[in-house]
Amino acid sequence: MSVLELSNYEFGDILGVGTVGTIYLATDLHTGEQVAVKKLHPRVSRDPLIRARFKREMTILERLRHPNIVSYLGGGREDDSLFFVMEVVHGGTVQNLLDSGGPLPWQAVVEISRQICSALQCAHNHGIVHRDLKPSNLFLTPEGVVKLGDFGIARDLTRADLSSDGVTVGTHAYMAPEQITGDLSVSGKVDLYALGCCIFEMLTDRKVFLGENYAQLFEQHLKQAPPKLRTLVPQCPEALEQIVFEMLAKKADDRPFNARLVQATMLEIAETAEAPETEKAKDDYSFHVGREQLVERIQKRFRPPAVDISWKRFALAGAIVVALIAVLSVVAAMTQ
Ligand code: ATP
Ligand code: MG
Repeated sequence: MSVLELSNYEFGDILGVGTVGTIYLATDLHTGEQVAVKKLHPRVSRDPLIRARFKREMTILERLRHPNIVSYLGGGREDDSLFFVMEVVHGGTVQNLLDSGGPLPWQAVVEISRQICSALQCAHNHGIVHRDLKPSNLFLTPEGVVKLGDFGIARDLTRADLSSDGVTVGTHAYMAPEQITGDLSVSGKVDLYALGCCIFEMLTDRKVFLGENYAQLFEQHLKQAPPKLRTLVPQCPEALEQIVFEMLAKKADDRPFNARLVQATMLEIAETAEAPETEKAKDDYSFHVGREQLVERIQKRFRPPAVDISWKRFALAGAIVVALIAVLSVVAAMTQ
């Protein structure tokens, strides 16, 4: 593992505060490159389990080199605390997109899912299950590249697990039934279930299940059929509804075989999309429309608010007042 020192970085703004660490924007003083540094919170840095998990996040990220996974640049220890350095991803998260603009067009959702499946297949091939796939862990570049991040509770199937057997970890709204029951046989299929929940949410801007407390939510994930996607989003292609339905199967064995298969289905859906007339245009359309819509939504978040409307209104109101004064003065002059 490449060992780094914090003195090599100039620290800037806080990018986010997680459960065990704070993430800072920093500049590498040698290369001038901007990076993100995740530092373990001092209050938890002595906890052996948290330290072990943080170290495990580092070793997992180091092994997973993939264009759709946040890249790891090295880590170290300073003043009894641990930190690691990763690429900084500047376009926010899928959660930010949902919060700022509501549901995403299905083509953009297919494009995001295709990229995440590629990341998942890489992780699963290395024996790593993410276990915490959710919109706030899907990072975006301004160019529309999606990067899976936050392997804080990922499980390395090739080693003994750090959480005690049967302990439930993950985020409740995205948890597969076998993850809820603490089944020992969790596999990459829990990530496919969570991705199904994410796709549902990206298309509808609501969670699959809306239980008011953990008990209700767990019961629904374990027993209730998910709502029909196309009743909520009629423009969603049937094939997309079908693959999401399969990903949300209660039994892991009933879900798609692997992330590669879901990725292939996403490509097929993009290819057979309703498209312009000519074959050439169809090809271009199929492969680019989702990415263009995604980039448009990412950039919209960073554009300054459109104040021109209110300025136009203000100017119009001003013009009306001036015109009224002019008319009144003419009337007054004529009546004198
Ligand atoms: P949580 O438990 O809430 O998921 P966490 O401890 O797992 O938090 P992260 O999800 O890794 O922490 O990061 C928290 C926030 O920090 C993210 O939502 C994001 O806003 C920001 N962040 C993390 N990593 C990066 C990065 N590489 N580039 C840009 N921002 C980042
Ligand atoms: Mg997170």
